[in-house]
Amino acid sequence: MTRVFREDDATLESLRGKCIAVLGYGNQGRAQALNLRDSGMSVIVGNADDEYAAHARKDGVALHSIAEAAARGDIVMSLLPDEVTPAIYRDAIRPGLSKGKTLVFASGYCVCFRQVEFPPDINVIMVAPRTVGIAVREHYQRGQGFLSFVDVHQDVDGQAWPTTLALAKGIGSLKSFALHVSFKDETELDLFTEQALVPALSVVLTTAVEVAVRAGYPKVAAVLELYLSGEIGDVLHEAAKYGWIGQTSLHSPTSRYGAKSRLPRFEGPQLQKTMEDVLAYIRSGKFATEWSAEQAGGYKNFNAMDDASKKTLFARLEREVMQELHMNGDPRHVG
Ligand code: NDP
Repeated sequence: MTRVFREDDATLESLRGKCIAVLGYGNQGRAQALNLRDSGMSVIVGNADDEYAAHARKDGVALHSIAEAAARGDIVMSLLPDEVTPAIYRDAIRPGLSKGKTLVFASGYCVCFRQVEFPPDINVIMVAPRTVGIAVREHYQRGQGFLSFVDVHQDVDGQAWPTTLALAKGIGSLKSFALHVSFKDETELDLFTEQALVPALSVVLTTAVEVAVRAGYPKVAAVLELYLSGEIGDVLHEAAKYGWIGQTSLHSPTSRYGAKSRLPRFEGPQLQKTMEDVLAYIRSGKFATEWSAEQAGGYKNFNAMDDASKKTLFARLEREVMQELHMNGDPRHVG
């Protein structure tokens, strides 16, 4: 049985009197730093002096360089993008990791792909929320929890698990629950979601919008109907409570008959094969090598793909619709 941890399985005691250094003030960094501070913990932030640092100052958190924060923190939370972590770790974090400290990751990536070496006398743990930073903050502010995957890679003093669970509680996760999932499984499943499920959904969604608009429906109506109304989001929300099959009972007979009778038209071996290939590539470690090379090369392909995705028919349609509806398309740093 996979171990599940809830609010009563943890206390914040192992964090009291400790300095928690949050390295990186991006999606996860800001949310986790503010949640821990609101949970009564002593939090400092390590970040370069730039736009993210300005957010930290506005939020009133003590700001240092990454190296300084890593040296000051008893618990050092690396909330930096995975692909840049190895170099920052080597140059700025590792020198500050003295005996008895705890290093925390929000993803298993660098451990799974052996991209960093740890001193033998520190704890190394993972508290990996299964949701985006904005939601980590919003759930906390609403008094709700969110799922996290947690694991211990290195335990030198028997305190690694109590600290892991205390952090999961402090960021607000345990109001829902945390699950013991290994660094390796967390990483591979996360990459699989990003590289198989998300692109497949993206193709389905953009294709449906383009087909409807080409068929002559008003683009605002088509885009709202297909996803912008939030109905699909609500369906996924209900699926998270009742299961994908369970939530079908919330739909009308017309809807259920239409969906079930047309399902076989979309099934086929190609999707399964593509997903299997994507997963095999991730598990071989080749994706991590590819992504490190992309980072080392200055993100040329990544930026080109990003630019291209903003110029598609779908992107143009979506921009027009959002302008017509006076919607802001930039969710960064909300809340
Ligand atoms: P972000 O991309 O939001 O992090 C940006 C932060 O990292 C900023 O503070 C930025 O500072 C800093 N940073 C970026 N590049 C560098 C660099 N080269 N040198 C120094 N600092 C740098 O990351 P996320 O919050 O998305 O991800 C952090 C961790 O959380 C990752 O391990 C990720 O896998 C995990 N995670 C992320 C989730 C998400 O929703 N995004 C969900 C669950 C886990 P600046 O640019 O100012 O230098």
